[in-house]
Amino acid sequence: MNWKSELADCITTPEQFAVHFPIDLSLLHGVVRRYPMQITPHTFKLIESANDPIWRQVVPDPRELLDDNLPEDSLNERGYSPVPAVVHRYTDRALLLVSGKCAGYCRFCTRKNRVGTGQLCFGWNQIEQGLVYLREATQVRDVILTGGDPLLLDDEHLASILSRLFALPHIEIVRIGSRIPVVLPSRITASLCTILARFQPLYLNTHFNHPREVTPSNVAACGLLANSGVPLSNQAVLLRGVNDDSEVMRQLCRELLKIRVRPYYLHHLDHAKGTGHFHVPVEKGMKIINSMRGQISGLGIPHYVYDPPDGSGKKPVLDSPPKTIDGLRS
Ligand SMILES: *Cc1c(COP(=O)(O)O)cnc(C)c1O
Ligand code: SF4
Repeated sequence: MNWKSELADCITTPEQFAVHFPIDLSLLHGVVRRYPMQITPHTFKLIESANDPIWRQVVPDPRELLDDNLPEDSLNERGYSPVPAVVHRYTDRALLLVSGKCAGYCRFCTRKNRVGTGQLCFGWNQIEQGLVYLREATQVRDVILTGGDPLLLDDEHLASILSRLFALPHIEIVRIGSRIPVVLPSRITASLCTILARFQPLYLNTHFNHPREVTPSNVAACGLLANSGVPLSNQAVLLRGVNDDSEVMRQLCRELLKIRVRPYYLHHLDHAKGTGHFHVPVEKGMKIINSMRGQISGLGIPHYVYDPPDGSGKKPVLDSPPKTIDGLRS
């Protein structure tokens, strides 16, 4: 199926979902009014039973409306936003937000208070303004296209943004952050890959959270991208009831290595409003990561990181240094 018609066939209301699975509609309407529902046909087919790891990621849950006292902008991104489409928190790296929408909406999303709600909505004039900012910001070497999902843009628009960025002499690398290889693999077409192959070094960070998301069509999509010279990596989020289990995490990382996707980050969940029910204690996250050492190549072990709300940036979650390290100092 063509990716645009697949996108048009997404499940966006509790009623459409209830045709297939018994759910309590009265509980979900309020949730969906606040945070949009959108499940791609690809993802929908992966749901096997209520509350399985795929379901939990995409089906609205009444707990999203709990008064959890968590902030809407947990990372203070707005404080680092010189123009609406740019988040510039680290000197040498900046985010360029090129789309306000995603192919599917994840219930645990840090930006769930803005994505798909009309509060995050980028017109061409805002992207233009962002490109002008990046042209002047000569300290920026690394631009990350994000949103929303950048691969929802048409091929031509994406090509035009990429060629504008690669024309700037101070930009050394560009990265795309996209969940589309996971939730809408049909978008990864040969023509998209032909365009991406023109731009190097261009990296793509995707977002698999569970080994069951690695299906033959996802494998094919990642293969096309890798064959086009796009190095692939993965940013997973540690989620209660989804992947907060050593065996599941190890299996996910092994599957990713097999399809040329390098596990990059495992994010400790940010404290964003409406996501509290996904929270996993940091001790458990450390246990999961530590259990992987010796069980899988170092290539397959992601950095476990958290993002403190003061905006000081991602930090690794580490054990304290082993005592023996002093003996190694010369
Ligand atoms: C995570 C992030 C980056 C990129 O960080 P890397 O560690 O280089 O992948 C850049 N800007 C912001 C605001 C971020 O949150
Ligand atoms: S694809 Fe990313 S930005 Fe979009 S809803 Fe999911 S986590 Fe949020």
